[in-house]
Amino acid sequence: MTGERPTAAERRARTRRGAPGPAAIATGQPLVAIVGYPNVGKSTLFNRLTGRREAVVDRMPGVTRDRRQGGAEWRGRAFQLVDTGGIDAADPTPIGRQVAAQAVRALEEADLILFVLDATAGATPGDLEIAERLRRAQAPVIVVANKADGEAQELQAQALWALGLGEVVPVSALHGRGVGELLDAIVERLPAAPAVAEAEERPPAICILGRPNVGKSSILNALLGEERVVVHDRPGTTRDPVDTLIEVNGRQIILTDTAGLRRRGRMREGVEHYSQIRALQAAERSDVALVVCDATEGITDSDLAAVDQAARAHCATLVVMNKWDLAQPDLDALTGKLRAKSRQRPPIEVCSAVTGEGLHRLIPAALRLYERYRSRIPTHDLNTALRELAEERPGPRRRGTRLSLRYLVQTGSAPPQFRLEVNDPSLVTRDYGFWLENRLRRRFDLEGVPLVIVYRGRD
Ligand code: GDP
Repeated sequence: MTGERPTAAERRARTRRGAPGPAAIATGQPLVAIVGYPNVGKSTLFNRLTGRREAVVDRMPGVTRDRRQGGAEWRGRAFQLVDTGGIDAADPTPIGRQVAAQAVRALEEADLILFVLDATAGATPGDLEIAERLRRAQAPVIVVANKADGEAQELQAQALWALGLGEVVPVSALHGRGVGELLDAIVERLPAAPAVAEAEERPPAICILGRPNVGKSSILNALLGEERVVVHDRPGTTRDPVDTLIEVNGRQIILTDTAGLRRRGRMREGVEHYSQIRALQAAERSDVALVVCDATEGITDSDLAAVDQAARAHCATLVVMNKWDLAQPDLDALTGKLRAKSRQRPPIEVCSAVTGEGLHRLIPAALRLYERYRSRIPTHDLNTALRELAEERPGPRRRGTRLSLRYLVQTGSAPPQFRLEVNDPSLVTRDYGFWLENRLRRRFDLEGVPLVIVYRGRD
């Protein structure tokens, strides 16, 4: 948003001078409005984004149809989502008109607008009418192409770029496909908020992942038993009652307990499935994941799956080769395998939970990754790198047009998020995208760190 325009908060304040506007549930959080024609899946998307089965309903006086508002959070950013109930310009009934009027108001107050369409139907005349209105909206718009349940529909969705409203994000609200990408796009476009500062005050959270019997609980218990580690018993400060707050060299760290590792004595096998779910949840709450492997077996496919799991939970990842007392496989070979098979390219540390060898290196290595995970790279450095990379390997070409890389800027951290402006995002191939990501990773010392790169066409 530009300087002269009133901010969404100012617009909200203005609206409130009259009757309470749709932002009546004031939270101080940015407001994201969902608009779209009836039946495109707005409610399903609302529920998906707020993570609720049933949404909180705000019953507006004098209106029989409900407008729904609910909180959502992604990567430490909280925002309020408003389902406007739909703009159906063709609906002539008083209620229809009232709902439409409210939707328009929600649009005026919003910091960001999600325009939802049915990707399988393309843009209908009703959609075009809404699009016309949105062109005049103050807030940025994301075009959400819903019902993109598969690749075919995702491709179809690309046609919606023609609306000229900006980024098109294909999702399947019903199945969850693409929802992470949508949340990334939302958070990236929200106005900067104080919530970030708060998130930065939180101690780093580390979790321990890995398949059964690699030594996860042995490592955790050995770490907690180390002399230099102080274990606090203050469940209130941690985000989950099973998490443990520890202090190493005066630095606070949260160890998020995966699968009840600390209670391992009481709960043995047979709970592995449940453990898996808990492990995933812990990873979602964590900044860094230690993926423990068994040195007597090297890196197995299940280990790679755990590495992948950590990456999908947006954790920075360190691979820990445990049981080093029993076997010392060739580290170069293991590193090579990891590089070939995992996009995030995590570094490796070796240790033995039994002899204690190498244990003291784990937390410092995890903290180093954490620092990289939170790093901010100057725009100038990014663009120098971008120019060199474009020279080294020019972008792919399709139908006479070559992808050109124009401008790279970091838009967020923990994990690092970047916006890459290009002439036409549809020219980016999977292969080229991966190559670019890995080059940036290597250049800026982000090995083991997840990166989010969002491609944008120039407006
Ligand atoms: P988890 O399922 O990953 O939590 O694995 P556990 O911590 O329960 O360990 C599985 C088995 O491996 C136990 O018998 C441990 O004593 C053994 N173990 C764990 N770490 C080491 C190690 O570094 N060296 C050796 N020799 N055995 C280990």
